[in-house]
Amino acid sequence: MVKLDSRASWKPPIERRKEVLDLADRLEDLGTFPDQVKRLRCCGLIWTVAHSGQRNLPCNQRFCPLCRPRWRQREFRKWWPKIASISGQQGEVVALTLTRPLRSGTLVEQKTALRKAAARLFHRQPWKGASGFINQVGILLVVEIGTEGPHNGLPHLHLLVVGLEPGLALAAAQWLRDTWLEVNPDASPLGQDFSLCSGPKGFGAWLNYILKGFTIAPTWSDERLEAMLEALTDGSHRLTSSGLLSPRKGKPRSTAKARLKTHQAASVEVSFGHEGIDTSRQ
Ligand SMILES: [Zn+2]
Repeated sequence: MVKLDSRASWKPPIERRKEVLDLADRLEDLGTFPDQVKRLRCCGLIWTVAHSGQRNLPCNQRFCPLCRPRWRQREFRKWWPKIASISGQQGEVVALTLTRPLRSGTLVEQKTALRKAAARLFHRQPWKGASGFINQVGILLVVEIGTEGPHNGLPHLHLLVVGLEPGLALAAAQWLRDTWLEVNPDASPLGQDFSLCSGPKGFGAWLNYILKGFTIAPTWSDERLEAMLEALTDGSHRLTSSGLLSPRKGKPRSTAKARLKTHQAASVEVSFGHEGIDTSRQ
């Protein structure tokens, strides 16, 4: 059961800057992440450029309130046209959420175990090989650590599966869910969410949702903040692509077509902000 809130969360930069400084103050009290604190303090000080000539680059930390929305926008504009060009008029996109029950061990250990479990799926025969799913569908995979609701504190996977023809993405997603339950026998069938997206707006909403990044709050306890920071700074990538969405498999598009698709992606994204599409799911 995934409650999908993909609305744009725009805030004035000055408000985000305050969030960054509050977070930096809180992490400084912890004392365990001095580098991250330093980077937060230097992130996005755009007004100092005019006064002192100092140039501050974004810190690019996945939990930074200033960098997180920029990353989300950049990735959306990168992936939406690619998914749209594969699914086209006839193809389909399926959103899949895969979970396992909360286990003992640190958040880092649970996240690593989850990534390994996911990697095992893609080494199985129906996935690999000349006629395997890898040549027929594309996948975006994001590892997320829930911060609220039923997934609170639980590392889980979000996948967007796109196919060139009707039935392909659905078959691949069903296989992934069934195999996931097979290799993780203690996972509940009810914990796996499976949604067929309706058109570009449908998968756009899901794409925007899975790119939401990580929010950590200064109000959290020391233990919770430390566990989350450790998991977010463990060096693992947050988004991976495979099959037709892998850079090696992707076909180059014409420049004009690419420009058109990027324009369309921007339009879809803007419409989320104004309409606030209700995509809550039961
Ligand atoms: Zn930043």
